[in-house]
Amino acid sequence: MNFCPQCGQALEERQIDGHPRKCCPDKACASIAWNNPTPVIAVLVEYEGKVLLARNAAWKEGMFSVITGYLEAGETPEECALRELGEELGLSGRIVSTIGHYAFPQKNQLILAFHVEAEGEIRLNEELVEFRLVPREKLKPWNFGTGLAVRDWLIQQGLPAGFLQFPPPTLATIETESSTGA
Ligand SMILES: [Zn+2]
Repeated sequence: MNFCPQCGQALEERQIDGHPRKCCPDKACASIAWNNPTPVIAVLVEYEGKVLLARNAAWKEGMFSVITGYLEAGETPEECALRELGEELGLSGRIVSTIGHYAFPQKNQLILAFHVEAEGEIRLNEELVEFRLVPREKLKPWNFGTGLAVRDWLIQQGLPAGFLQFPPPTLATIETESSTGA
């Protein structure tokens, strides 16, 4: 953000409580862009006994993730999870459990993750280009972002949960063993 959302003046960087903040120089306005993390809902979708991972249209081939979406105003995280399930996959479902919450500083987000059991006929929306149904024991979580939720879910299921030993890429994605063509 470079301009004040209140009055439109160019913002200046200042130190406030030890953090660099973008501040409006107008004395009367004095607006501050706090840059707080954005809540993102992650949905680990169980479908016909497998975990559904999808590839975003912007991601390279072989990179898959659980479903994610932004919370809408007035919506609970659980409502958001079920709405995203419908919008992105065309499925209905129920919340099985809360998996956990995860800081994702690379994207300035806070991830709230849920396990959902889903049913219906899968119809991807335009954000997604393909999906995989992955047996739980084949999941290979990244060591950041939504991968942390997948790791915790595997532990909650009593399964071993090793991270992929990759340098962290910039997206919260999960690569599966099957995605390498094996
Ligand atoms: Zn201003």
